[in-house]
Amino acid sequence: MNAQAKYPPAPEEVQFNPTVLVIGGGASGIASAVKAAEAGLSVVLLEKTAELGGKFAQISSMYQTDLSPSQWLKEKINVLEKNDKVAIYTNGSLEKVKGQAGSFTVTLNVSGKKEEIVVGAIVVATGMELSSKMPVPEGADAGRFMSQMELEKKMGDFTGDSKCFVFVVKEDDFLCGMANALKNSLKLKNSGHEVYLFYDEMKISEEKMEKLYHQARKEGVYFVRGTQNLKIGQQADKLTITTVDPLLPIKLAKELIINCDYLIFNEDLVPGADTKKLAEILKVTRGPGGFFQEDNFHLEPVNSFRAGIYFVGACRMPDFLHNVQEQAGSAVNAIYQLSTADVKSLMDQKPLIDVAKCAYCLTCYRSCPRNAIELLYGIEGAAWDGAPYVHPYACQACGSCVAECPNRAISFPGYTDEDMKKQFSGIGGKS
Ligand code: SF4
Ligand code: SF4
Repeated sequence: MNAQAKYPPAPEEVQFNPTVLVIGGGASGIASAVKAAEAGLSVVLLEKTAELGGKFAQISSMYQTDLSPSQWLKEKINVLEKNDKVAIYTNGSLEKVKGQAGSFTVTLNVSGKKEEIVVGAIVVATGMELSSKMPVPEGADAGRFMSQMELEKKMGDFTGDSKCFVFVVKEDDFLCGMANALKNSLKLKNSGHEVYLFYDEMKISEEKMEKLYHQARKEGVYFVRGTQNLKIGQQADKLTITTVDPLLPIKLAKELIINCDYLIFNEDLVPGADTKKLAEILKVTRGPGGFFQEDNFHLEPVNSFRAGIYFVGACRMPDFLHNVQEQAGSAVNAIYQLSTADVKSLMDQKPLIDVAKCAYCLTCYRSCPRNAIELLYGIEGAAWDGAPYVHPYACQACGSCVAECPNRAISFPGYTDEDMKKQFSGIGGKS
């Protein structure tokens, strides 16, 4: 801002740039980019690897639809590639973010070249990482232990002789781990293999999962409750899984021994390696598990703490494709609402700073939980050269800065000290 700048800036000076930066080119990033493009927004889709698709591209099938992940990706990428308002950057990363919702200046590094662009909103869709966790017992053949993702990649290889597969789904596995186990156990059973599924709790609280479970039972997948006491060993070329059915009375309980060819387990689903760094760049928070933290899990599940920054897909919590698509729609809807909001009426609801009273101590700047306060310079009438400015898009009107200001320089419109004195004197109180 120039010397003697008008303060606060006039509403017409606060613009919303209709470009959305989507970080992550997996299923959630692609779904977000498609929804944003459908809403008429310009999109910059940033993928860190050389190809779009992410982990979703490695999955062989989905249980809710006959459409394969590769078909889904092909269709959506085709839509994006045909749209002139969509730019796809691969081998790219985010280096820096300045500004607020409506006008973030972001520095990208694309194949080693830096580029600065201005975007109105940012959708974080960076997904998650998989971490193998099944310990292979000593002496056992490691090649007989497969994670769900390894099985997905090898699914087409098991077409010959009938084999025996044992799936293990632990209590703390995510719901999508159970869905994958049900889907793949049914698929293997239908290909003529013998399949057992060990589980602690049958969690099927997702669309069409109950049907999938009943179908797996009907087709002959054996379900065995309890994964805590499994003893895993190897005899000749078979793995031996030994357990006792925890539901049988002690007297009747007999050891159940299964000789199988492969043991399948769920990976741990953990936050992406760059989540911490990205959270620092974006100045957003992470939850206890290290995933990005939503503002309000129930009411605003895709909103970050900062206006204009949204989380979609597994970067906030592993989820199913249909939910991810809904989240993408919610994020784009929130962006659309913000971009079309009346700035004047937004400003009327946000705190005002009396720059003549401001001592430029920066208490408000440091204490704002939303990072909604910017510093402007060359302000007419300001006691100091710089003065804080409450950004109308970013501020959530929590009132913290009003309470914290030691010089009482911040107040909500209609609630200044003078306004309150008038109200008190009107009801006979002493001010
Ligand atoms: S807390 Fe008050 S005095 Fe300090 S910078 Fe903010 S408005 Fe100015
Ligand atoms: S009212 Fe709350 S969100 Fe708004 S600027 Fe002040 S501290 Fe930040």
